[in-house]
Amino acid sequence: MAKITINDTTVEVFKDATILEAAKELDGVYIPTLCHMNLESFNVEHHVGSCRVCMVDVEMGGRSKMMPACCTPVQDGMVVKTNTPEVIQARRIVLELLLSDHPFDCLTCPKNLDCELQALAREFGVDHLSYKGEMSKYPVDTTSMAIKRDLDKCIMCRRCETVCNEIQTVGALSGYGRGFKAVVAPAEMKNLDKTNCVMCGQCVNVCPTGALTGISFNKKVWAALSDPNKKVVVQVAPAVRVAIGEEFGLEPGTDMTGRLVSGLKKIGFDAVFDTNFSADLTIMEEATEMLERFKKNENLPILTSCCPGWVNFLEFQFPDLVNIPSTCKSPQQMFGAIAKTYYADKIGVKPENLVVVSVMPCQAKKYEAGRPEFAHDGVRDVDYVLTTRELARMFNEAGIDISKMQEDNFDNPLGESTGAAVIFGVTGGVCEAALRTAYEWVTNKELKDVNFTAVRGLDGIKEASIDIDGTEVKVAVSSGLGNARKLLEKIQSGECQYHVIEIMACPGGCINGGGQPFIHAETDILEQRMKGIYAIDIGKEIRKSHENPYIQKLYKEFLGKPGSEKAHHLLHTEYYKK
Ligand code: SF4
Ligand code: SF4
Ligand code: SF4
Repeated sequence: MAKITINDTTVEVFKDATILEAAKELDGVYIPTLCHMNLESFNVEHHVGSCRVCMVDVEMGGRSKMMPACCTPVQDGMVVKTNTPEVIQARRIVLELLLSDHPFDCLTCPKNLDCELQALAREFGVDHLSYKGEMSKYPVDTTSMAIKRDLDKCIMCRRCETVCNEIQTVGALSGYGRGFKAVVAPAEMKNLDKTNCVMCGQCVNVCPTGALTGISFNKKVWAALSDPNKKVVVQVAPAVRVAIGEEFGLEPGTDMTGRLVSGLKKIGFDAVFDTNFSADLTIMEEATEMLERFKKNENLPILTSCCPGWVNFLEFQFPDLVNIPSTCKSPQQMFGAIAKTYYADKIGVKPENLVVVSVMPCQAKKYEAGRPEFAHDGVRDVDYVLTTRELARMFNEAGIDISKMQEDNFDNPLGESTGAAVIFGVTGGVCEAALRTAYEWVTNKELKDVNFTAVRGLDGIKEASIDIDGTEVKVAVSSGLGNARKLLEKIQSGECQYHVIEIMACPGGCINGGGQPFIHAETDILEQRMKGIYAIDIGKEIRKSHENPYIQKLYKEFLGKPGSEKAHHLLHTEYYKK
C-alpha cells in the first residue's frame, strides 16, 4: 500500500493505483478526464494519457511538477494538488491546444451538446484561442452504411481503438501516422467500407467528440412523413423503451413504452408497431428450426442470428462457420417482410408506397436494412433505421417532450407482444425466449417457471444446462465480440459441447447498443436498463411467444405453420463468406 495526500487529505491505496484512481476514493475531489475511459468491468485497460486534461500538481522529494493523473502511479509520500490556479491554467492550456486543431463547427456538429471536449471547454472557461497554426484537413468518410468518420475532430484519445481491438477484437481501427499527421484510422487510411468493421457502433459510443458518429436518416424520415403518397409505419425495438427516457432526464430503465407510442403518433407516423411482435415471430421460427436440428442431431450448435453486428463478424472472421447460425432473419427484418406483404395487403397499399421505419438501439441495423437480400422486387423490407439517440433528436426537433406524454398502445395487427419478446433487448434474452417455447413444444407440458435465470446478467460468457423432458440441453450466451470469438474458436477446434449459443455483438446486448444514449462505459446504467427490461417481462400477461394471439392469427391467415414454405421465403435468409 502507499499513502498519498490529495488536497490535504491522506489516503492509503494499492501501490499500482494511479493518482486518478486514488482521487476517486475521496469525496469532493474532481479531476477532469477526456481520453480516459474506465473499462474495468470488461477486464480491459485504457491508460493512454494522451490528452493531458487530467493534469495535477505532484510534489515528491521536495520537487513539484505537473503530471497527468490518469497514468501516473502513486508513490508513498506523494502530495497531490488538484485545484490550484496553476493546475486549472495548465488544463486550460491543454484544452486550447486541442482546440487549436479542431474545426469550429459545433453548432452543426452531430455531437453538439453531447461532446466531451465542448463540455470541458465550457467548464474551464475557454473563451478564446491563444494558439493558431496548421489545421488538419481530411475528407469525411461516409462510405460505411452506419458509421461516419470525421478525422478533423479526432483528438487521438484512442478510445475507439481500444474498444474495437480489445473488447470487440475486430481490429478495424489503429493509430496511423506520426506527429501532427497521427490519427486513429483503418490501416493504410482506407475508408471504413473497405475494412472488416462490423458496424457495431461501440466506437461511436465512446468517442468523446464528433469524430465518430452514426450515419443519420432523420431527414429522409421527415421527408417520408411529409409525402402525401406514402403511408409511413414505425417499429420500435425492445431495448429502446428502457433507454430513451435518459434523453429526457429520466432514470435509466424507466419503461417509456406507452409514452414512446404517443410521441411517435404525434410526430405523424400512420401506424406505430412493435418489433417485439416480430421478436415473438422470430421465436416461432427459431424454436422450430432448433428442434428440427435437435431431432436430426445435425448442424449443432445452433447460433442465434438476430444481431447484424455479430453476423458481420462471423462472415468476416469465421467464414467456415457461416452455415451454423439459425437461418432466421432478425426481428427487424421479419417485421419489414411482414409489413410489406401481410399488412400492406390488409390496408390495400402497394408495398412501394409503404415506408417502414425502424427505431433501433443499434448502428449495425442500418447496414442490415440495406443488405441486398432484404428486398423483394426492388422494394426494401425496411426503408430507414433511426437509433434511439436519433429518434430523441427528432422528438426535440418537433418540440415533443415524451417524458410528459400520456401513454398510448401500439397499433395492431403488428403491435401485440409477450414478455419473451422484450427480453431480446438484453444479453441472454433470445436464448431464454426460445427455451420457453421449445420446452412447451417438446414436453407438451406447461412451463411453470419461465425465468431461466442462469442465462441472465451482464457477464460476457454465461453457460447453463437445461433439462427438457430428460434431455440435457447445454446453452452458452455471450455478448461482446471478443467473447464471441472465444466460443467460435471452441466450435472450430471441436471442443464445443453446447447445443444452443446466443451471441450479441454489444457488451450486455442491445441495451448497450451503438445507438443508445451515451453512458461512457457506466455499467450501473446498463444494470438499470436490464432491470427495466425484466420488469416489463414480468408485467406482461403472456410471457411465451407461441401464446401471442396475433402471431397465431398471422400463421392462420397468412403463413401457414412455422417453418412453412411461405415462412421460409419471407422470414429466413443465408449468410455469406466475406
Ligand atoms: S463499428 Fe465496431 S467494428 Fe467498426 S470500427 Fe467501430 S468498434 Fe470497430
Ligand atoms: S476517433 Fe474519437 S475515439 Fe477515436 S481517437 Fe479520435 S477522438 Fe478518440
Ligand atoms: S447487440 Fe444489439 S445493438 Fe449491438 S450490434 Fe447486435 S443487434 Fe445491434
